[in-house]
Amino acid sequence: AVIARTQAVDERVKAFNSFDAADALAQAAASDARRTAGQALGPLDGIPIGIKDVIAVTGQPLTASSKMLANFVSPYDATVTQKLKKAGAVIWGRLNLDEFAMGSSTENSAFHTTRNPYNLDCVPGGSSGGSAAALAAGEAIATLGSDTGGSIRQPAALCNVVGLKPTYGLVSRFGLIAFASSLDQIGPFNRTVEDAAITLQAIAGYDENDSTSVKVEIPDYRAALKEKKGPWRIGIPKEYFGEGLDPEVAAAVEKAIEFYKSLGCEIKPVSLPHTEYGVGVYYIIATAECSSNLSRYDGIRYGHRSADAKDIVDLYYKSRAEGFGPEVKRRIILGTYVLSSGYYDAYYLRAQKVRTLIRQDFLNAYNEVDAIITPTTPTPAFKRGAKADPLAMYLCDVYTIGVNLAGLPGISVPCGFSSSGLPIGMQLIGQPFKEADLLAIAHAYD
Ligand code: GLN
Repeated sequence: AVIARTQAVDERVKAFNSFDAADALAQAAASDARRTAGQALGPLDGIPIGIKDVIAVTGQPLTASSKMLANFVSPYDATVTQKLKKAGAVIWGRLNLDEFAMGSSTENSAFHTTRNPYNLDCVPGGSSGGSAAALAAGEAIATLGSDTGGSIRQPAALCNVVGLKPTYGLVSRFGLIAFASSLDQIGPFNRTVEDAAITLQAIAGYDENDSTSVKVEIPDYRAALKEKKGPWRIGIPKEYFGEGLDPEVAAAVEKAIEFYKSLGCEIKPVSLPHTEYGVGVYYIIATAECSSNLSRYDGIRYGHRSADAKDIVDLYYKSRAEGFGPEVKRRIILGTYVLSSGYYDAYYLRAQKVRTLIRQDFLNAYNEVDAIITPTTPTPAFKRGAKADPLAMYLCDVYTIGVNLAGLPGISVPCGFSSSGLPIGMQLIGQPFKEADLLAIAHAYD
């Protein structure tokens, strides 16, 4: 059914970079065979899960939606892929994104722009726009994305699905194409919070192949949805409800807050005073880390190699000039600049210090509340081409970036529609490694 649906609608939605129907059917047949043989089934047995095209799957393309990797085929599985396979899932297709996950609309994909299923003239958000749109359009039962500054939660909000960014270190990054390593996390897109709990269960856990993976006890997330009943103390940060917030988005989130009040939750104002520095700090740290991570694409080891280079240095230059798109180049240049001698202390080091203050803001708030509620995005989905100015695009992420800088878990849950029929999402932010509580709070609304 998922294959048929994808074949029927993806010409319009353009969520996939590629898919292999025969391979998916073979995986499904293997699941059927396990069932018929009476073998123990995994928690995701036979469920088709779409994968963002930055997460490695053995034998499948791994492009990062970049010319640089257009012909690259992964020789290995990411840890999350191995875990999904172990849980019985059918690994389904390669989902479009902004090139190397840099962007908020999928318009930076070197291949094509994914459309918002709720309005094909609008963007689905990004960078995991393919993952959100595919799920919303019925082209998968769940999908995986990655979130460096909002790339799971923002497209989830714009496409009316649930998107979870786990605590930094909960889910292994082994086999995820690196963008900004201190911020990147893999997480699931689902139709319900319960499905998010099930999918997170399958992918979470310590991995010796990721040096930032954390050894923590993994609770039963699905059981927690029933066991944890609240009432909770929920914080409202005034910094997330100010200038630039669309009134329809504000009204939808306020309605959700009223719902929590009706459950007996204590709603408390909290302050996150360093919020205004978030976007600036993010675009220093993320670009610095990406300039370092992307130096591996040199035209020698793998990826695009220019055909007409005169010598080795020319080969580096031409391969990178031809392989990377404009946004990726902008970020490499910016990142190289903030790391260069003379500017390192002024920009990079200072950004790291402010990052600590941003994290401390959240930890202070958690002395008083269990979770924080905010809008996920300042506006519903915008039209394709509406944010040609990169700075305007960067500002889409004001409400999601702080969570990555602080390493916290965050979930976007659908909370209504604008008058023009576009989805609106609210964001719940939890405490480090307390996904069970965060999911329970979100589930109470869902
Ligand atoms: N939109 C943000 C950026 O362009 C976040 C992207 C992401 O989370 N991968 O960097």
